[in-house]
Amino acid sequence: MNSDLATALKTIVGEAGYLEGDAVGEKYYSDWRGQGDFRPNIVLRPASTEELSEIMKCCHAAGQAVVAQGGMTGLVAAARPHQNELPISFERMTGIDELDARTGTMTVQSGTPLQVIHEYAEANGFIYPLDLGARGSCTIGGNLATNAGGNRVIRFGMTRDLVLGVEAVLADGTIVSSLNKLIKNNTGYDLKQLFIGSEGTLGLITKAVLRLSPKPKSQAVAFCAAPDFDAVAKFLHHMKSGLGGNLSAFEVIWQNTYQVTIDNVPGVKAPLSQEHAYYILTETMGGDQSRDQERFEAVLGEALEAGLIVDAVISKSQAEIDDLWRVRDALAEAMASQQPAVGFDVSLLIDDMEYFADEVTRRMTAVWSDACVYIGGHLGDGNLHLGAKAGSLDPHPKEEIDAIVYGLVGELNGSVSAEHGIGMLKRAYLSSSRNLAELALMKKLKQALDPGEILSPGRIFTPNDI
Ligand code: ZN
Repeated sequence: MNSDLATALKTIVGEAGYLEGDAVGEKYYSDWRGQGDFRPNIVLRPASTEELSEIMKCCHAAGQAVVAQGGMTGLVAAARPHQNELPISFERMTGIDELDARTGTMTVQSGTPLQVIHEYAEANGFIYPLDLGARGSCTIGGNLATNAGGNRVIRFGMTRDLVLGVEAVLADGTIVSSLNKLIKNNTGYDLKQLFIGSEGTLGLITKAVLRLSPKPKSQAVAFCAAPDFDAVAKFLHHMKSGLGGNLSAFEVIWQNTYQVTIDNVPGVKAPLSQEHAYYILTETMGGDQSRDQERFEAVLGEALEAGLIVDAVISKSQAEIDDLWRVRDALAEAMASQQPAVGFDVSLLIDDMEYFADEVTRRMTAVWSDACVYIGGHLGDGNLHLGAKAGSLDPHPKEEIDAIVYGLVGELNGSVSAEHGIGMLKRAYLSSSRNLAELALMKKLKQALDPGEILSPGRIFTPNDI
């Protein structure tokens, strides 16, 4: 970066907002998948939307590329800086501007950690239903930029469904303030959706109006075993119709994955024995503790009688709820214990899942006889997480494994990314899930909003390549 630009940027953000040299710690070039290739010389930490706007005016004029950084918990290497990119950290743009109890909304700054939002909402009788394992570290700006999913999408939707308005800074520094609180607002294009899920490539989100839900008065969890996949699919339908809107989770773990979880993750108590084909964590949340618990037990009883499940443990206390969720939450650690393995986050129709699981394993073992595939995830949303391992080969054949898994996802018209995004790591497979007309429209949007390609260049796609 030339010294005139550096001086201008330092003047905008001041000493506290400008890190250089040794002050640039590892956290500005590493994420949850590991360390990046380039240690940046300078990191900017603006304190306000106005400062960010001034930064972008300068960068736009100079053709300086930037990359937005939240909690660095992403899984597709979108926020790690590339050579000559300027990281912009939102760590000083934190805080809750307002909780409006009458409209059930909360206006927050984008660097605010998700857990802080959870705690503030709960202290005021609400929940913000977006929840994921990274809650203590991830920021709401990153959640929006990636359209994060998580455990309760079946009930409340993805991040996209939980946001009413955003404020963002465009590549040229223009501030677009669209902090709408209305549920219904059909006055032209829904501009916030341009930024949500764009992984920092169309604008930098600075604030958001979040849609809260009243804090549920009841919660109960069951951990169940099913004999075959047909029973799992029927059990999902049964729980949806039996609980109506109260069904808040339907998570499934394949048998071998359950075994690895119980055997390898410390602190996990096995709720059920290990001989069943599928394990399901399901949850109800509602407005009346005793009636909801009674209804939950009755619906589960019907499923047992019909043979959709063959065994079940039902929570009777908050401690038991936490223990059962701990088994599901340990899935990521269980897959990590099987390194080297390649992780996947795919979406499929439920009707294709059994074939997909069997066929991935068949294609993997045809090439590597000791290959293993671990599967679990948000089955109620059509979203599976996989860990695929070609024995203990070193180096591990990641590209061949990617080709097998994504090839099959493409054949089944699924999505190569259900909730993690594309970033840098899935670019080669974007076209497995998007057709040519869709890709061309994405390119037009990118060129219209960021003609100089200075916002997270190369993430998701490079316009010249499509
Ligand atoms: Zn997930």
